[in-house]
Amino acid sequence: MKTFDLVTARNQHHLLEIISNNPAARPVAGATDFIPTVRSGRWKTKLVVDISRVEELRFLRFSDNTVEIGPLISFKDLETSKELGIFLPALQEAAACMADPLIRARATIGGNLCTASPAADSLPPLLVLDADVTLITLNGERSMPLQDFILAPGQNALNPGEILSKIICKIPNSNSGMGFIKQGLRRSIAVAVVNAAALIEQENGVIKDCRLALGAVSPTPVRCCHAENFLRGKSADEVNLTAAASLIKEDLKPIDDVRGSAAYRRRISEILSRRVLELAIKRAEEEKDA
Ligand SMILES: Cc1cc2nc3c(=O)[nH]c(=O)nc-3n(C[C@H](O)[C@H](O)[C@H](O)COP(=O)(O)OP(=O)(O)OC[C@H]3O[C@@H](n4cnc5c(N)ncnc54)[C@H](O)[C@@H]3O)c2cc1C
Repeated sequence: MKTFDLVTARNQHHLLEIISNNPAARPVAGATDFIPTVRSGRWKTKLVVDISRVEELRFLRFSDNTVEIGPLISFKDLETSKELGIFLPALQEAAACMADPLIRARATIGGNLCTASPAADSLPPLLVLDADVTLITLNGERSMPLQDFILAPGQNALNPGEILSKIICKIPNSNSGMGFIKQGLRRSIAVAVVNAAALIEQENGVIKDCRLALGAVSPTPVRCCHAENFLRGKSADEVNLTAAASLIKEDLKPIDDVRGSAAYRRRISEILSRRVLELAIKRAEEEKDA
């Protein structure tokens, strides 16, 4: 195994100082991606900065219309937050089926985003929420849509010396419903063969807004724009949902790998899309009746 120096950041300023003086240093949060990456020899850095004690990066704030999530929030925090279950249920569902309880207790949402895996479970729900991310350095901050932050498998938009400091999501309107479904090869500790999230806003039986995102079927998780555009302004009936699910292939570029062939992924994507849209529609209807 490669050796490296390890520094523990005491607070956000200390972290930014270390990173600014050593732009090649790599931050580590829960270390659940870090350890396999070091073992595989893919991690080349000489300096690792443990950010897990930077309390300024650990928050889950709910306001009237937004949720702000600190990068050190763990999947266990997401899974057990009562407010998150009320306002962003799809993100909570994604957290609850990620890995196993031990990993969920350590793994952070910031690490999940920065690893930029095509199969990352937090990405489809955050994409349908049109989440933004904030990146900080010692000299200031910048924000961008999450969609622009995830560039390619394992590649994100962080510049050397930058830290992901916040994820911001708008709370969906009250006539909305959302959901997340994951298909793996087993029930627990399963990387997604396909994962899917949907958000539907309905008005008088008509789909006002539709957002659908799929993971593990393209180099980065994708929004299924063809299906979304097709469903906007239409009623949520069998015929329209079947037609929408058949359109998702326009947005996918699946590959063959150990977890499944591209053809299998395309088929599962269609089935999961249909199911997650139905789930979101059902929840939107329950919201209307509440
Ligand atoms: C057994 C096992 C099962 C798993 N199952 C799943 C699964 O089902 N679904 C899934 O999505 N993932 C899964 N993972 C992957 C992993 O657990 C997640 O990606 C996790 O969220 C990573 O978070 P972390 O805090 O451990 O990241 P770390 O390992 O600490 O860091 C990961 C990367 O992010 C960078 N980073 C972390 N925080 C920041 C920050 N604030 N700013 C800048 N860069 C940062 C690090 O430099 C590193 O490049 C699994 C991993 C294991 C080992």
